[in-house]
Parts: sequence; C-alpha cells; structure tokens
Amino acid sequence: MNEPLLKVESLVSGYGDITVLHDIGFEIAQGETVCLVGSNGAGKSTLLRTLSGLLAPKGSIHFDGQDITRWTPQQILAAGIAHVPEGRRLFGPMSVIDNLRMGAYLRTDKAEIERDLEKMQTLFPILAERRSQAAGTMSGGEQQMCAIARGMMSRPRLLMIDELSLGLAPQVVELLGDVIRRIASEGLAVLLVEQDVMTAFELATKGIVLDTGRISLAGPTSQLSQDPAVRHAYMGLA
Ligand code: ATP
Repeated sequence: MNEPLLKVESLVSGYGDITVLHDIGFEIAQGETVCLVGSNGAGKSTLLRTLSGLLAPKGSIHFDGQDITRWTPQQILAAGIAHVPEGRRLFGPMSVIDNLRMGAYLRTDKAEIERDLEKMQTLFPILAERRSQAAGTMSGGEQQMCAIARGMMSRPRLLMIDELSLGLAPQVVELLGDVIRRIASEGLAVLLVEQDVMTAFELATKGIVLDTGRISLAGPTSQLSQDPAVRHAYMGLA
C-alpha cells in the first residue's frame, strides 16, 4: 500500500501552557480532499497552524515520508505544504500579481514561476483582469481567489485553506468549489477548514470532526452526512 502524503499521530498542540489539541491522528492521501469541521474554538485553525510549523507540537507529523514535526514554516512550505490563512492575509497595498509572486518566494525556477503565474490567471480569470490592482481593494471573493492562487504559487502538494467560504456569496463559493475540484483532480491534496458543513461535505471525500480539541468523528463525508449527531449539531438538520 502507498504511504499517505500526510500522517499525523498523537498530536498535542497549543499556545504556551494552553493545550488546545489533544491526541490528534489522521492521514491524507495524495490528491485527497479532506475537510475539518467543528464549532467555533474547536481548534481547526490551531491544527492548520501546527501543520504549517507555526506552533511547536508533541506527537508526530510525517509528510511525504519525512518527519517534519520540528521543521520551520519555511522548510514546511518548501517541502510542499501551503497554508491559506483565515482572513486571507494578502499584502493589501501590493498588486495582485505581486501577491502571487510572493507565493513563489522560495522558488528559484524563474521560467516555471512565469508559467505558473499564467496558469493561476487562467484558473482565476478575474485575477488576470485585476492583475495591477491593489489586492486590498478587491472584493472578498476576489481576495480569496488571490489568496488561494498565492498558495498555489509555491507548487504545494498539500494546500490547506482556512475558512474557504466565510462571508462569501453562494455563487463565489460555487466557483471556488469548482476550482478546488479541478486542482484536486490534478493530484493536489487539499485540507479545508469550513464553517459551512454542507459545502465542506460536497467538496471533500473525507471529513474530520473536531470537538474541543479532539477528533470526535472521522470518515467518508458520504457517511458523516448521514450521521444523526453530525446532522443535528453541525448541519441544522433533523
Ligand atoms: P473558529 O472557527 O472560531 O476560528 P477554530 O476551531 O479555528 O475556531 P482556533 O482558532 O484553533 O479554533 O482556537 C482554538 C482555541 O485556541 C480557542 O480556545 C482559542 O481561544 C485558542 N487560541 C487561539 N489562538 C490563540 C492564541 N494565539 N493564544 C492563546 N489561545 C489561542
């Protein structure tokens, strides 16, 4: 059997003396889209921050067969994990195209970077139209597209997106969903943090439910969406 792309075991993480995540374990295969759902404060963002090297955890994180548990954020990005943070964190006064270039700051393959810039503008045509506009002046949906494209510019093998749909119109969420399906079909693994559980389950094949820092349920989204507890607590359904 193939090794998973990401393997997290017995992970414990938090901020200083405050432990937020307890005994977290899961795997992501190459090309798999996984969603992480749970109430406010469950620890979803903390898990993404831990995976991108911003917090020092206990336990282990293996990526592509290597133990990256103690790696720096730069090393982790270079290894192929990109993080699109909550709130997008674009460089507001900088143009769209310069924001995209920033996503490739660790790369030295200039010709390939130019090719990827073109590719991102094909994937998100609005970014081509707005290439010279200050990123901070764009709409929320356009900024989310720019943030995802910036993440893609590092040529990741795992793209982590925190709060994909928050504050965005349904048509924009649909468009972003189409793009995610497309990039996943090219072999990229995606870890989505998503408040809107219906959207999350439509996009992902596997779901992880976090409850006060612990995984309470995990499995195929087709099964989770039929689970009475999940339907009641997270989907507002009977
Ligand atoms: P939300 O959907 O509201 O963003 P979340 O599931 O992403 O929630 P986290 O942001 O990971 O949750 O927060 C988990 C816990 O960690 C919360 O109790 C929060 O108060 C705490 N926390 C988050 N950031 C910090 C920090 N910088 N220092 C201390 N505690 C923090």
